[in-house]
Amino acid sequence: MNEPARIPGASSSPIPTAEELGFDPDELRDKYNFERDRRLRKDGEAQYETTDDDLYYYNDDPYITERIERDPINDEIEVAILGGGFGGLYMAARLQEAGIRDFRIIERGGDFGGTWYWNRYPGAQCDVESYIYLPLLEETGYMPKEKYSFGPEIREHAQRVAKHYDLYPRSLLQTQIKNLQWDDEDCRWTVTTDRGDVLRARHVVVSSGSLNRPKLPGLPGLRDFRGHTFHTSRWDYDYTGGSATGGLDKLGDKRVGIIGTGATGIQCISHLGATAKQLYVFQRTPSSIDLRGNSPTDPQWYASQKTGWQIDRNDNFTKLLMGLDVEEDLVNDGWTDIFKSLGDLMDGTGNSDLTVDELRQLGEIVDFKRDNRIRGRVADTVKDGQTAEALKHYYRPWCKRPTFNDEYLPTFNRPNVTLVDTAGKGVQRVTEAGVVVDGVEYELDCLIFATGFEVSRATYTHQADLEIIGRGGVKLGDHWADGMRTYQGLMSYGFPNCYHMGFTQTGYTPNFTYMLENQSRHLATMFVDAKARGYTALEPTAEAEADWLALVSAPNQMTDYLKACTPGYYNAEGNAKSNSDGFLQGHYPEGGLRFYEMLAEWRAKGDYDGLTVR
Ligand code: NDP
Repeated sequence: MNEPARIPGASSSPIPTAEELGFDPDELRDKYNFERDRRLRKDGEAQYETTDDDLYYYNDDPYITERIERDPINDEIEVAILGGGFGGLYMAARLQEAGIRDFRIIERGGDFGGTWYWNRYPGAQCDVESYIYLPLLEETGYMPKEKYSFGPEIREHAQRVAKHYDLYPRSLLQTQIKNLQWDDEDCRWTVTTDRGDVLRARHVVVSSGSLNRPKLPGLPGLRDFRGHTFHTSRWDYDYTGGSATGGLDKLGDKRVGIIGTGATGIQCISHLGATAKQLYVFQRTPSSIDLRGNSPTDPQWYASQKTGWQIDRNDNFTKLLMGLDVEEDLVNDGWTDIFKSLGDLMDGTGNSDLTVDELRQLGEIVDFKRDNRIRGRVADTVKDGQTAEALKHYYRPWCKRPTFNDEYLPTFNRPNVTLVDTAGKGVQRVTEAGVVVDGVEYELDCLIFATGFEVSRATYTHQADLEIIGRGGVKLGDHWADGMRTYQGLMSYGFPNCYHMGFTQTGYTPNFTYMLENQSRHLATMFVDAKARGYTALEPTAEAEADWLALVSAPNQMTDYLKACTPGYYNAEGNAKSNSDGFLQGHYPEGGLRFYEMLAEWRAKGDYDGLTVR
């Protein structure tokens, strides 16, 4: 067992003093609290406007060049997969490898890729290393061009996977599911779509993503703006010119405003700044922006990887993020850096002989040091002192998605780019001509919303237009009226053979591909096993579901951490009272790695513990 590390210079107490640190943690904590408090709002998540009804056009697919004309399909299949993103692709691949070939993927978009199909904004890039993020690299034999892939390469790769597994003939693209209805006698789901299709499926896997429905700020005058407007997840290249790599050449005579400086805003703003006549960046809360440091892939290194390397690398990354010992940090980037410092406080097995309170204090100091470094980066890069100050974040790394980018900050040194900092208050209102902040109207030709996606509704019903009707005619939306209820994060009582892929109520990891890889393996293995045993329906018991909910909702260190955070979708806009509030809707307390180990142990036991089987 390794000795837990001590901060150098600290004598008897493991907690260093302000003098030893060179900054005062109490002062910094006060500043973080001040910044949080001035952003708290009573309306929380209700502050946003959904893109329904007269705003539904913000959801329209701008990328379809030709509508697929086809007759309705009537089919009997083993598995219906909802969504052609990474989850759907993984599910299809693992089913096929397990010998199940009668499945269909139903996807609203015109092609595969999910979030990468929709998010084609300039600069879109994966912030997790491509070698662990791009699915099925070994299976397809593909080498990512760079350590962090850009959107077009990722979308192409999704298509590559679909071709590799011959998924196009078994997929219904440009097709929206309307209803899923359970037939309790036949133990099958009936899936109906907006194309008149009727599919009868033994199992239904819902993998439609949880950040898929664009949301807008509920601002007075939102509908009054007379200029051009769109959401970043439906980028209008006809208007801006250029492509996902930039060169937005039609903006040279345009005054452009963008609301939102989250992970998306950070990536597209440098491209807007490069070509717009004038760019106004309306900021409520700055992101933390660490070094990206992208680099091309070394083909020799890539070719030297041994069979099974992608899963091994992913395990290595996930272990590091849990504070476990690994021989080598294979990914070695900004993500592992956040956790390595925390891991240094542990003994290599995820434990420590420090007290819980000492660990909490040291964890905070590690975060403060990182935050100070990142704020230093802003000061070193942005020339105007006031702008630089406004771009510094004052909240801990897990309050919002940490970002990594090397082009965003220098953009504010351009003469045509103005940061309109709203001091945590947000934009005041929209007018016919532009946007008002602090009584000043900024006239715009184009207003872009980088304001993110609905979280709660998306995870409750997955798609606003989709109705899932289970045993006894109960609607999933009603079963989840007070929040998501699952067993193992995957299934719900009253909804046999229906599985939800995703991070909610499962074991969290920032690499969603790791999660989807493991969940698809789990489900495919279970389907094959259940079939071999002659089981036609698998459904969690009410008790198993209640126990799971209690487990994932139980308070833990993360609860207090999130409560102290600046508002955002991670903590239900500052209103998270328990673990089941916020975007995870509760999470497996031992983390991602242990969660999937637990599922493997559950499968190995073979007694379908927690489920009623028929
Ligand atoms: P976010 O929800 O993260 O950000 C929305 C932005 O809009 C925030 O900056 C928010 O400010 C701002 N905003 C909302 N309302 C107002 C208002 N009234 N006035 C001013 N500003 C406002 O959405 P994103 O699209 O940026 O990111 C969503 C998620 O997608 C990420 O968290 C990440 O998980 C994923 N993503 C991943 C990427 C990757 O590289 N893998 C890249 C891009 C996105 P405030 O912070 O104050 O709420």
